[in-house]
Amino acid sequence: MVFSFTYTATTPDQLPADEQELCARALEACEGSYAPYSNYHVGAALRLSDGSVVTGANQENASYPCGTCAERTALHYAQSAHPTLTVDAIAVGVRGEGQESRDESQDVPYPCGMCRQALVEAEQRQGSPIKVIVVTAEQATVFPSAACLLPFAF
Ligand SMILES: [Zn+2]
Repeated sequence: MVFSFTYTATTPDQLPADEQELCARALEACEGSYAPYSNYHVGAALRLSDGSVVTGANQENASYPCGTCAERTALHYAQSAHPTLTVDAIAVGVRGEGQESRDESQDVPYPCGMCRQALVEAEQRQGSPIKVIVVTAEQATVFPSAACLLPFAF
């Protein structure tokens, strides 16, 4: 058995216009981040099936497990407020400033395992893939489906 998928690795300015706009919304959403513990400010933007965009940012807590990632903040809001719509794409971005001490490869905000699980179940629930776009100031990676990121999901 082989598990494989095709993804795109490029720069943000080479993305199609609609994906660039979604990435811009994700980066703007970083402003809503509350990340005093990690100083890692992440934003997410979801494009829904009616064309609207829902955003979210990571929300940390002194009791660490209480915190929520940007992806799930946005996804769960979208599912709660717009239960009849599907999610076509999600862009995840990280604010660059204040990250000088980090290795750039660690700054790429690939979704964590919990968010991958949440996105895969959203795909299963809606019966269609969610394109995942992970963006920094210098690079953009586009996955055709969240399922690519989580083989053998729960
Ligand atoms: Zn996460």
